[in-house]
Amino acid sequence: MNCERCGVDASLAHRDVDGFAYYLCETCIDGWDAIRGSSPDAAEGPRSPAR
Ligand SMILES: [Zn+2]
Repeated sequence: MNCERCGVDASLAHRDVDGFAYYLCETCIDGWDAIRGSSPDAAEGPRSPAR
C-alpha cells in the first residue's frame, strides 16, 4: 500500500483521526503526532459568550 499522506510504498499503520481512517507510514505518523500535539486550536478554552 501507499501512504495516504506522502505516497511512499511502505508498510502502513492505521490511524483514526477526527473520525477518518488514514493509512500512514511510520515517518508520517511521527510527523502527524507532532503536529497534533502542538495544535493550539485543540487546546482552545471556552469563550465568553458576552461581556
Ligand atoms: Zn508517509
